[in-house]
Amino acid sequence: MLIFMKEKKYKAIRKSAFMVYKQCPRRFEYNYKDPKYWDYGASDDKSDMKIWRGNQFHKFCETFFDKIITIPPKDWSFPTHEDEVVQRMIFWFVGKEVERHIKLEHDKQLEYFQPLANELKVYYENTIDRTGHIDRIDRIGEKEVCVVEYKAGQSYNMELPERITSMNAEIGFYTQLLKLAKVYPDYKITHWKVINPVLQKVWMNKISPISLRSVETVFADMVDKITKKKVFPKKISPLCHWCPYKVPCDPFYDKPIGIDFNKPL
Ligand code: SF4
Repeated sequence: MLIFMKEKKYKAIRKSAFMVYKQCPRRFEYNYKDPKYWDYGASDDKSDMKIWRGNQFHKFCETFFDKIITIPPKDWSFPTHEDEVVQRMIFWFVGKEVERHIKLEHDKQLEYFQPLANELKVYYENTIDRTGHIDRIDRIGEKEVCVVEYKAGQSYNMELPERITSMNAEIGFYTQLLKLAKVYPDYKITHWKVINPVLQKVWMNKISPISLRSVETVFADMVDKITKKKVFPKKISPLCHWCPYKVPCDPFYDKPIGIDFNKPL
């Protein structure tokens, strides 16, 4: 029997679109209308080595835990990778997971080592749906979980205040999505963790209730603008320089507008 899915009036909002909206509502509008809206930049070509390496690292992490579940850490092997930068990331990551394993073993919480989920796709239906792809969910103790993000890039330094703010928004989006879709009704989502194999750092933080409220406020504003066809205002900032829609947004874009794009962000 053929089942025809009713076509949705509005596209779902994914996390990266939500983050674009926070950066500039007009850019979001262009992105939302773009036929390439669903492109995740997950291509396997090497035209952008940073993206390619990040994707390679994600692929490794996705299957890592399934492969080592029955093997004690002392016997874990370090797989080889054709690219030496990716190899270094993997080597560091496995070392960090060995440390975590040892610490958990000491605390007699070995069962918490294995993530609850890897590469989890979540979807929530509403007036405008929302969706997300979460890198990993870890358990902390009996009743709490931690949303884990792999961020393979120099710029993902959580010691920078603007990065913490943006990460709170990203994780806030995921946390609300998990709650609304009732993915883990028996757990409280209390923490986030960012693992950056390029900077070789791990950060862990508590999820702030303020950032969760802020996600809902911004989301309600997006829904209102989309459904009532309201104006999406421009938010001019140094980031305009890297905006893929800068030409349609402003035909005079190349004329000076008082922003020094050579200053570091
Ligand atoms: S060029 Fe700037 S103002 Fe225009 S859409 Fe892009 S980010 Fe927004």
